[in-house]
Amino acid sequence: MEQILVVNCGSSSLKFAIMDGSESPPLMEGIAERLGSEHSIITFKYDGKKHEQPLHENDHRGAVTAIKNWIDQHSDLDIKLVGIGHRVVHGGELFTKSVVINKDVLQGIEECSQFAPLHNPAHVKGIKESQALFGDLPQVAVFDTAFHQTLAADQYLYPIPMRLYREHHFRKYGFHGTSYRFIEQKLASLDETYGQQNTLVAHLGNGASVCAIRAGKSVDTSMGITPLEGLMMGTRSGSLDPSLLAFISDAEHITMKQALDILNKESGLKGISEISNDCRSIETAQAAGDDRAELALNMFASKAAKHLAAVATNLDSVEHIVFTGGIGENSPVIRSKICDRLKMMGIRLDQHANQMCPRGEISRISKQSSSAFAWVIPTNEELLIAQDTLALINRPETEQHR
Ligand code: ADP
Repeated sequence: MEQILVVNCGSSSLKFAIMDGSESPPLMEGIAERLGSEHSIITFKYDGKKHEQPLHENDHRGAVTAIKNWIDQHSDLDIKLVGIGHRVVHGGELFTKSVVINKDVLQGIEECSQFAPLHNPAHVKGIKESQALFGDLPQVAVFDTAFHQTLAADQYLYPIPMRLYREHHFRKYGFHGTSYRFIEQKLASLDETYGQQNTLVAHLGNGASVCAIRAGKSVDTSMGITPLEGLMMGTRSGSLDPSLLAFISDAEHITMKQALDILNKESGLKGISEISNDCRSIETAQAAGDDRAELALNMFASKAAKHLAAVATNLDSVEHIVFTGGIGENSPVIRSKICDRLKMMGIRLDQHANQMCPRGEISRISKQSSSAFAWVIPTNEELLIAQDTLALINRPETEQHR
């Protein structure tokens, strides 16, 4: 069977999976971590077992080499790699869909680095190393931003001087697009009418955002020019009064960039709970009676509900609300707190179904009386990347250019 190597390069990590484009679990998956440090390691998960090894060449090239070596050492598995699919965080206004990577595309990804200075350069490294080590294997870029390129100008523009948009492309881009597209397709596959209906999706993981989808197209989303805007997240503050940045910087005698780091890395669930950025740990603390944990969860749910209501103003009605991401898929507590705050929209959760929904499966968790269906749908961004890659490499000439 034909397989795709899915690669997700971060600045100090590289996640990977070998997939055949079907729902079956990856043949192998893993992560290279702490790239650039002395202690970098790579972990392969295969056949229900985990194998960890140090990475002597401790950079992106070392990680890709280790993956290639693993494939070569497992010739008995008959892996037929036909392409490589790369997750790319920022595609700016250049990329409205997934594309086969050529010189122009690589240059375009580099151009978009201004808005994703940690991620896009890492993606470029990962792509170049994969090209060097896997030779002629076609490679495809799948962008987190692409799905939101359907937003209208009155949604994507910030109310700042137009000149700043014209000259610098400062606008809302939105993220988690691969997840939203996956969810939208999954929902559409459940019933032939669903694909034409109005849907709200809450992608709640360490990063969290919401999206309003009308007839399969994104019409609004909560993240902005970077993933900092919108909901309260694991360590990100989400939206707040921008003046706060100057106040923090003055009061703490730090630069704006350092103040921004506080909003990106020290805030959100972590900042409020002072326990962890991890929702599970906070729920455990809340169950043991910790007030700050309760406050953090309430704030998280409140911000999520507010942003869901806000993006819903772009829809004439709401037929579906979908929860996904690590928290959305696994936390009945958070889902319940959010739906409680959406009662004015007529959403009524079936508490039993909400508590009992089986991990990793699609579940309907709304009551019959609810104005919209509420769903839990597990996302699978890697699968969509593998499917896009397969589709594009089997359609050579038409989609090659950005
Ligand atoms: P990322 O944005 O890094 O991809 P994930 O989608 O994996 O994040 O989500 C990670 C979050 O999901 C963490 O906050 C984790 O605590 C939360 N999570 C995972 N399982 C559960 C659970 N059973 N209950 C509550 N939260 C959970």
